[in-house]
Amino acid sequence: ASLDVLDVGVLTIILVGTVAYFTKGSLWGKPIQDPYLTSSTSSTSGDRDIVSKLESSGKTAVIFYGSQTGTAEDYAHRLSKEATARFGIKTMVADIEDYDLENLDTLGSDKVAAFVMSTYGEGEPTDNAASFYDFITSDSAVFSEGGDADSSPLSDLKYVIFGLGNNTYEHYNAIGRNLEKALQKMGAQRVGPYGEGDDGDGTTEEDFLAWKEEMFSDWKEKFDLKEREALYEASVALIEDSALSTESVGVYLGEPNKGHLTGNASPPYNGTNPYVCEITSTRELFKSDSRNCIHIEFNLGTSGIKYTTGDHIAVHPQNANEEVDLFLDILGLKEKRNTVFSLKSLDPTSKVPFPSPTTYDTIVRYRLEINGGAVSRQFISSVAQFAPNPESRKEALRLGGDKNAFANEITVKGLNIARALNLISNGEKWTEIPFTFVIETVQPLQPRYYSISSSSLVDKKTVSVTAVVESEKALGGDHYLKGVTTNLFLDIKYAQEGAKNTASHALSYDLNGPRGKFESRKLPIHIRHSNFKLPSNPSKPIILLGPGTGIAPFRGFVAEKAAQAKNGKPVGKTLLFFGSRNRTEDFLYEDEWNQHAETLGENFELVTAFSREESRKVYVQHRLYEKAAEINQLLRDGASFYVCGDASRMARDVQNTLVKIISEQRGIDITKAEAVVQNMKIQNNYQEDVW
Ligand code: FAD
Repeated sequence: ASLDVLDVGVLTIILVGTVAYFTKGSLWGKPIQDPYLTSSTSSTSGDRDIVSKLESSGKTAVIFYGSQTGTAEDYAHRLSKEATARFGIKTMVADIEDYDLENLDTLGSDKVAAFVMSTYGEGEPTDNAASFYDFITSDSAVFSEGGDADSSPLSDLKYVIFGLGNNTYEHYNAIGRNLEKALQKMGAQRVGPYGEGDDGDGTTEEDFLAWKEEMFSDWKEKFDLKEREALYEASVALIEDSALSTESVGVYLGEPNKGHLTGNASPPYNGTNPYVCEITSTRELFKSDSRNCIHIEFNLGTSGIKYTTGDHIAVHPQNANEEVDLFLDILGLKEKRNTVFSLKSLDPTSKVPFPSPTTYDTIVRYRLEINGGAVSRQFISSVAQFAPNPESRKEALRLGGDKNAFANEITVKGLNIARALNLISNGEKWTEIPFTFVIETVQPLQPRYYSISSSSLVDKKTVSVTAVVESEKALGGDHYLKGVTTNLFLDIKYAQEGAKNTASHALSYDLNGPRGKFESRKLPIHIRHSNFKLPSNPSKPIILLGPGTGIAPFRGFVAEKAAQAKNGKPVGKTLLFFGSRNRTEDFLYEDEWNQHAETLGENFELVTAFSREESRKVYVQHRLYEKAAEINQLLRDGASFYVCGDASRMARDVQNTLVKIISEQRGIDITKAEAVVQNMKIQNNYQEDVW
């Protein structure tokens, strides 16, 4: 049998006691002597020149990331750490937004640029990659030495690409693919396979592991690299300070950023400077054995934050008490959770990822993704070096090196980091793991996005969210799989009612937040503007499909239509398709639709699909098809078509149904009908807000 892709990495870790080999290849320069020269994070100063940054810091590879939810950023860091640990390559990680890349043509053939790029939404670049992407894919890109996109200005550039996408979206991995095309066209030399990860099939992690293994093997050969014992080298130093406590001024306890810590938080509010926003009300829309659906209202108050109907709100969560305890406990850090420490960067180009001085509890609670899904295989193989005993080490290496064993024994059971470590060591504490390893290896806790379910025309200060809280028992485990943010919402709801969630698996949170700053029910948020918008002309008809919580933005849309009608505007027809399990259990906002129907009269029609009410499962796309003639007529009358909710199946089923309707109603073949739908998308008459 062939070696699994991770075996090579794992074998290198096993080579304990061997003398480290250093590179001899000209590309990578002299062997690394300085133990502190490892990967670094993004640009710290106003210096936007990547060529001089690499020169001055003595790095030979830069790993750029275009990341929206943190996965690409995490992969960039992992790649960088591994390149250094295994081959001694001096790497830096760079947020692609932090640099002006018109001088990529002068990076030099002794350097490599790696691009880890996510595709977001409808084949769009992530926010941080938008400018670079526009530049590099533009036919008129001009580089610093004067070459343009039609010549071969990048013939000196060595690069690799890993794209992250989701095959259920039409423009699968568009950013990675278009970047590849652009770089090839400009003569750049790819020095490894072009890689892609597919979230649609849930294989991103394994795709990445396979790709990077192949890529490192190519580099090894091409650049004559020698592999060395891959042991962890810290990029940051942690210094405990017994003179400080959680009472001390300036100790970071989880405030959204330094401004909030010093009491100087001020607008503009955004992803790095969220607004600590009051939650004015919460209510339960429905509750069943395994699900709750919560409606939450945020008040933007005097923040100056503006939103328009159809935008997204990002909520910056914290981890639950129970999960923080489990995590600190398995690391043997429970007793000193409130010990204060400072972090210092050991690399001149890197910045410390969190404000410090701070505490172990703070970092685990507010900054690390300790419970947002199952642990990664790479984490388990790299943590093996810190196992509490030889058996646990062997077990971690076995699981880390065997894709199938890992899938069956860890992923399927829904084990997060703490639970996996606990299983591997049979409960023995992993006290040898340096906390800096945890900081550098565990993904930062990410904000969660929600489609705003209110209308800015009706109330510009109130932003509402419609979120479903799922609780599923883990397969073969005695714990429940629980979302971080949704359970925080649920805990806030109980707190607002002065009640307690008595479910045995309920999660509880530190609702008062750092220094009581989230007291009276506040959470850090920011708004992300979206292109999911009503037509500017209110008399245009609209067709809306929003099963489950996909109804969220349409609650705002229909409320806006009703408000326009009340204001005397001529309002076109709204045809809303809603689907759920059955009308008694999870028919969201039923009373509101009745009210809007009174205001809008025949200009509003709600069509429902309750999948568990009939012997055959009926979904929104079936109802859509039943109304084929009317849909076709509305489209002929200029209707815009909107879909919101599940990206993996529903959105595709709805699109296929619309293609079928157009084909049959207009007597054209499927390919032509597909082109009609494509054209609707280009004209913004077919919009999706799917996740
Ligand atoms: P996470 O902590 O992120 O966990 C995700 C899932 O993994 C959960 O279901 C959890 O049960 C499960 N899980 C936890 N631990 C494990 C484990 N060890 N192994 C396997 N699985 C595990 N959602 C809405 O409800 N309403 C909306 O209007 C909405 N709009 C959105 C709009 C956009 C643009 C996007 C990107 C997403 C939207 N979402 C919406 C989804 C939302 O952002 C969150 O993903 C969702 O609420 C879950 O977040 P969480 O923090 O509770 O769960």
